[in-house]
Amino acid sequence: MLRLATKTNAFKNPRTMAAFGGSLRLYSSLPLSQTITLPSGQSYEQPTGLFINGEFVKSLQHKTFEVINPSTEEEICHVYEARKDDVDLAVDAAHKAFHSEWSQCDPAVRGKYLLDLADLMEANKDTLSAIESMDNGKALPMAQGDVGLVINYLRYCAGWADKLSGKLIDTGSNYFNYIKREPIGVCGQIIPWNFPLLMWSWKIGPALAAGNTVVLKTAESTPLSALYAAKLAQEVGIPKGVINIVSGFGKITGEAISTHPKIKKVAFTGSTATGKHIMKAAADSNLKKVTLELGGKSPNIVFNDADVKKAVQNLIVGIFYNSGEVCCAGSRVFIQEGIYDEVLEEFKTAAEHLKVGNPFEEGVFQGAQTSQQQLTKILGYVDAGKQEGATLVTGGERLGTKGYFVKPTIFSDVKPEMKIYSEEIFGPFAVVTKFKTADEVIELANDSEYGLAAGIHTKSLDTATYVANKLEAGTVWINTYNDFHPAMPFGGFKQSGIGREMGEQAFENYTQWKAVRIGINNGPQ
Ligand code: ADP
Repeated sequence: MLRLATKTNAFKNPRTMAAFGGSLRLYSSLPLSQTITLPSGQSYEQPTGLFINGEFVKSLQHKTFEVINPSTEEEICHVYEARKDDVDLAVDAAHKAFHSEWSQCDPAVRGKYLLDLADLMEANKDTLSAIESMDNGKALPMAQGDVGLVINYLRYCAGWADKLSGKLIDTGSNYFNYIKREPIGVCGQIIPWNFPLLMWSWKIGPALAAGNTVVLKTAESTPLSALYAAKLAQEVGIPKGVINIVSGFGKITGEAISTHPKIKKVAFTGSTATGKHIMKAAADSNLKKVTLELGGKSPNIVFNDADVKKAVQNLIVGIFYNSGEVCCAGSRVFIQEGIYDEVLEEFKTAAEHLKVGNPFEEGVFQGAQTSQQQLTKILGYVDAGKQEGATLVTGGERLGTKGYFVKPTIFSDVKPEMKIYSEEIFGPFAVVTKFKTADEVIELANDSEYGLAAGIHTKSLDTATYVANKLEAGTVWINTYNDFHPAMPFGGFKQSGIGREMGEQAFENYTQWKAVRIGINNGPQ
């Protein structure tokens, strides 16, 4: 293998590498798959090519980039990097597939493909979970949970494929009217690195069920599980060109997708700043339909009458699940004054008991942050919290020197004017604020540019429904948190997004209504 890339620490982080436009990373003979030994000891064959028109292929310019294991900071492998010319090929393949039988066939056929894919994923769930854990850094049980959600969601979408019906509209006997849903066409999909495979399924499941074809870009730091899943899609015989996976960087591959004239819709999950950029690019190019699932700073509220043990469990799951790399993380914790000291003490104790470390080690709850950049960002917010006068209750430092591990962190005495209160940190970092009344906490909770999710912990149905009705959030969890179901739509109010994923609502984003009005001459001619 000829390696022309210069490897220095500066190039270890794919994001740093992006700044160099990829010009220093060129493997002229990177094979299209590589045997990788997982930390669990199991070996598997990792596809490294772009997945275009049903085949794994080298990128046209033969550029590759390095994939890092965030728990060890060591290289896992390289994968091929898509540039604009590769995206063009992928779009052509998706366009051709869309205009062939895929969009025209009996929808039950599409449903069957999704069911077959879900079954094959289930048969490969151990490999998929281990790949995800190695590539993203999340604890293995979390990755196993993700894969379970992926399988359920694909099955859920399969169930919808032949039920996306239209209806007949009666406007009197001189007309026969019907409305029907039609797929949109080639959909560009850009996904983040916190739930690589789950976001793959949230994007691909409804798009395919509704008859669209896709060109999906994975995040530059976590491309592996999507490529492996593409191999499974190939094995179940999903027609060529229906799914295309282009690994690559935001400013190059992502930009090529959001500006592409033949892509009719773009679906994005990631930061609010990037979402705004993509929306502009989509409008300026060909006014693509846009769905965005963006950032959050979600309130998780504990009332005096809450079951303390359960509430604390939900605070823990709310902010430390998936190493806090969750757009809907319950990162702003509000505790009512009557129970404040008790809940804060229990929250601190529970956080200090969480096992952080090697994602493959038994009992580990919190693995590594996905990148050096994230680790640095989190530690920067620790400094900001201290400088702004908040109280560090626990954590606030890196764990070890190898791997991007950070201790579960809680700050108390946090005021709305502090940076750590209002900005999305995207790590295991909770800020705690005391409140007196329901109306006061509603105002505090809603005082955010975001509105993705919220949690309420109380035994009172009156309190729960009163507060739930007033919170500006796309999802409200009561006496639970980070609790997803394929049938429940997910998406944001305010700057947390546009459109919904999952549930019946997801299909609104992947279909367009056609109204057909037929004039009828009354009586025989
Ligand atoms: P982060 O900064 O935390 O990585 P982003 O929202 O920037 O979060 O990244 C989420 C996804 O968006 C990734 O797949 C990334 O490559 C992609 N992305 C980043 N910038 C752009 C862009 N300008 N156009 C399209 N996609 C982008």
